Amino acid sequence: EAKKAGRNTLRFFDPTMQKTLEERVDMENALRQAISKQQFQLFYQIQVDTQGYPLGAEALIRWRHDSMGMIPPSDFIPLAEETNQIETIGQWVLETACLQVKAWADCPFRQHLTIAVNVSAQQFKQHNFVDIVQKTAERIGIDPAKLKLELTESMVLINVEDAIAKMKRLRALGFYLSLDDFGTGYSSLSYLKRLPFNQIKIDRSFIVSATFDSNDAFLVHIVISMGQKFGMDVVAEGVETQEQFELLEILDCKAFQGYLFGKPMPIEDFETFLLSLPNPSTATTYIA
Ligand code: C2E
Ligand code: MG
Ligand code: MG
Ligand code: MG
Repeated sequence: EAKKAGRNTLRFFDPTMQKTLEERVDMENALRQAISKQQFQLFYQIQVDTQGYPLGAEALIRWRHDSMGMIPPSDFIPLAEETNQIETIGQWVLETACLQVKAWADCPFRQHLTIAVNVSAQQFKQHNFVDIVQKTAERIGIDPAKLKLELTESMVLINVEDAIAKMKRLRALGFYLSLDDFGTGYSSLSYLKRLPFNQIKIDRSFIVSATFDSNDAFLVHIVISMGQKFGMDVVAEGVETQEQFELLEILDCKAFQGYLFGKPMPIEDFETFLLSLPNPSTATTYIA
């Protein structure tokens, strides 16, 4: 064991490890400048109902790095969390999303659209998280019901009582709470009943397997009926094929997100894309 530890310590001075450390510090510093350099961008991914009507979008952050190009969140959100930058970045996401909700509120056929933002554990655990969200929404002047906050089971389970208290306050203020990646965590069904979520998002992994594993299809069915019983909306994440969509419809799923309906895209593209979808004004031609 001592030998192992010793080797690990030595590895720190290994030139390849050194390079990794340098790269990490470079990345950390670059991340610190990303907001002022306007390198962050929100991509929007459509959520639709059974008829293909747009319900809203999930906002997904992207980082346009000077030399490294477009960096996905999985490659920098963990670093942002470890280096205490996630609060600042999360605030940028929240503001940008609220501004977009506001812009749609003034647009015909866009007023009803919601925007979902991903909240990180560090953000959520701030003692003044609820105030921050409320003040931001109020300052920008949006209907809180249009803002969906995506939380995960793991971040709620860190401190259940604190989480429930915050969630209740957010609900009382009119915000919409979504349980992201449902099925990947450990939470028991009894917990779920206590957590005041408006919506459950069934994780992509279940959607992928549901079409060829009847046990997983049954699990999806259970989650959907449980959602109905608890008065929660259910949305299927990561729907990629027509076959998955049809199965989900049979299982009584009412809301969908995934590449089948649209990939995440910059707002300009998303606005154009919205024009190609059915909306209430074109409903008659759509049905005909
Ligand atoms: P998530 O919230 O579960 O978001 C869904 C992820 O699945 C997104 O990846 C999306 O692009 C991808 N996806 C959507 N439909 C499909 C599909 O049909 N097939 C496949 N294979 N993938 C699909 P993305 O954008 O890379 O984001 C990854 C994760 O990063 C998100 O998972 C979320 O946890 C986190 N994230 C994204 N934006 C933010 C943010 O603004 N703040 C924080 N804290 N986390 C974020
Ligand atoms: Mg999400
Ligand atoms: Mg998700
Ligand atoms: Mg996911």
